[in-house]
Amino acid sequence: MRLTSQRVFVIHPNKDPKVSLSERLQQLLREQKQSWPDLARGYAVLSETKTRLIECEGSPVILQFNPGRIKSTSARVDEKSIQSRKCFLCIENLPDEQRAILYQDNFLILCNPAPIFDRHFTISHTNHVAQSLEAFPGVFLDLAFELSPSYTVFYNGPKCGASAPDHLHFQVCPSNILPIEALAGNETKRILKTTDNAVSVWTLSSCGRQILVIESKDKKEMELAVGLLLRAMRRTLAVTDEPMVNVLCSFADGRWQMIIFPRSKHRPDVYYREGGDQVLISPAAVDLGGVIITPLEKDFVSVDAKIVEGIFKEVSLDAQAVERILGAW
Ligand SMILES: [Zn+2]
Repeated sequence: MRLTSQRVFVIHPNKDPKVSLSERLQQLLREQKQSWPDLARGYAVLSETKTRLIECEGSPVILQFNPGRIKSTSARVDEKSIQSRKCFLCIENLPDEQRAILYQDNFLILCNPAPIFDRHFTISHTNHVAQSLEAFPGVFLDLAFELSPSYTVFYNGPKCGASAPDHLHFQVCPSNILPIEALAGNETKRILKTTDNAVSVWTLSSCGRQILVIESKDKKEMELAVGLLLRAMRRTLAVTDEPMVNVLCSFADGRWQMIIFPRSKHRPDVYYREGGDQVLISPAAVDLGGVIITPLEKDFVSVDAKIVEGIFKEVSLDAQAVERILGAW
């Protein structure tokens, strides 16, 4: 379906270079809270959320009780379910009130109607193309650059957290709101694995899950590094689809940084338990970044450090696998 002028809030970039992309996001959010009742309701739910801080193997994790996320957390993402539902990111299925910043001709910046943060956006392709970081690393890096220092951009792989695995999308949250971002800059946590002036790679120690940090001043080198990492993962893990990763991307002090969570599985076993034993946590970039969403209050109350540590361990690749990948890079 064609994009109507009514749908487009503003085009970016346009002839007015004085207005930054971050400012445009703020303007869009302000307008949409006025004109789109469901979005206003989503932010009202967010304002009522409760949070709780727990320590997970020495790193802070915030639990967020957010009933507004029940649809996303419990979304069926198997192929049959995906094929039989209307894609909620395709232009023709967007709510009438939803408007977008048209970005780089082919992307729509949209307000997320079930926010986790006080500023939460989804960036989707204008066409129904599959979720793939390998195919679109450039726009991911451009968004991080243009939205710095206000925002962090994140990506959930099609098999580990994307609720629309069939439609390319990124998300945006306020920068440094995820606890892992501070840890990624902590010299006592970083273990340098490789550096060649253009790109440096670290792992982070004692975080309860495996984490890679990649930094570069050069956009092309960063794109290359991500492609090489995914290729090394594919070879090492013997998978044909895009290897499972959740990625945070930001830009500061003249360099891009990606925080990568290599995954072994999508949802933990406790997710599939029946009755009272079920824990409705479906980990993706935000959760592994240290803000765990629990749409059910019973989970918010009962989940403790031991459960979180177990979930992190279960859904992350183990240290040996990560070392093998780094060796094959
Ligand atoms: Zn679609």
